[in-house]
Amino acid sequence: MTGHSASQNTSRSGLVPARRSADIDYRLARERLLNAWADGLIATDLICDAQPMLRRNAEHCGEKTTIDCPICNQEKLSNVTYVFGPRLPSHGRCISVSGELDRINKRSGEFTGYLIEVCPKCGWNHMIRSTTLGKY
Ligand SMILES: [Zn+2]
Repeated sequence: MTGHSASQNTSRSGLVPARRSADIDYRLARERLLNAWADGLIATDLICDAQPMLRRNAEHCGEKTTIDCPICNQEKLSNVTYVFGPRLPSHGRCISVSGELDRINKRSGEFTGYLIEVCPKCGWNHMIRSTTLGKY
């Protein structure tokens, strides 16, 4: 451990508000997955399964982090924010500006935001945060 905190180094990681206990759950799940992969219990193609659209979103509306991909080590991870809910596309909307999330939060209806880390190179992807938005 270096004490290096991703959330402090990424300008827009606050797009989806942090929720401490949930964040820890996601982090533990990520660690377990990576440990199982390192032990050879999980095949690389099972965890590097980002869909083409997710990879494109990682490049075009994702937020580049300073964190190396834990799988291929050849690319920095991107954080991609998706929101699902009424009157949004069924595959979710990829959010790239913070004001957009605030606007959705003011709408009526129940929306769910997800923050996903993606490696555009090898396709590693993992949810790092989720939150509920909107007035309902
Ligand atoms: Zn990678």
